[in-house]
Amino acid sequence: MAATYEILALRYAILDGGRLQYQNYLTPDDHAAPDPLDYLLFAIRGNGRTIVMDTGFDAASAARRGRELLRTPAQALLDAGIDPAETKDVILTHMHWDHAGGMNYFPKATFHLQAAEMSFCTGPCMCEPHMRRPFDGDHVKDAVGALYSDRMRLYDGTVEIAPGITVHLIGGHSGGIQSIRVPTARGTVVLAGDAAHMWGNIRNKNPFPLVIDIPRMLKGYDIINSLADGPDHVIPGHDPLILKRFPALNGNPEIVRLDLPPIA
Ligand SMILES: [Zn+2]
Ligand SMILES: [Zn+2]
Repeated sequence: MAATYEILALRYAILDGGRLQYQNYLTPDDHAAPDPLDYLLFAIRGNGRTIVMDTGFDAASAARRGRELLRTPAQALLDAGIDPAETKDVILTHMHWDHAGGMNYFPKATFHLQAAEMSFCTGPCMCEPHMRRPFDGDHVKDAVGALYSDRMRLYDGTVEIAPGITVHLIGGHSGGIQSIRVPTARGTVVLAGDAAHMWGNIRNKNPFPLVIDIPRMLKGYDIINSLADGPDHVIPGHDPLILKRFPALNGNPEIVRLDLPPIA
């Protein structure tokens, strides 16, 4: 029988006060309606492996960017019984500050990133301060450091990271953002990451405003939908509904099981 995995979504931070719908949708229904974001890590475990998706950010980044850190990403993982200091594999969906800001939590990990993302965040577009805004130079240095200490794998498109678990180059939101496809007992789930921030972005094909290529982001929504077994098998990157729609792990409301059917 083919391998299946448990998938966890772990919330470590929120952006509530003042976040409005026009900041999450290029064409909002109600420009000024409140539309908060959650900051999540995802973890995939089973068949003797634990793979973490993204690294979150630390207290310094939270203070600098005005986000509310509920717990460190490392603590969120520890709460689920995952020790980041011993984690061997971390998939970086992309290099934005809220995804690549915690590489130091994973001193033994190999990082898995698309070559196009590494090129983008170290390339000529970064000469423009506007394009650099979602990145932090220290995180990019961490990635280069990992590359030069043989702890970085760079991919061109679809690659199998573990039996049945594949990464897929999507683009649109950043130069080489990737999504992850995971077989579970309820079917094939796609962890979209920031290739689809909210269910509303992908279900209504209404792009997120932080975008470098709108047609590619829209094409990416199609690719993600085609890789998943249904709309509830697509998991967006920042949607506060995730914690409400899936069952909690061991009664902890900040960690939910995405490999189980939705409860709402
Ligand atoms: Zn992003
Ligand atoms: Zn993000």
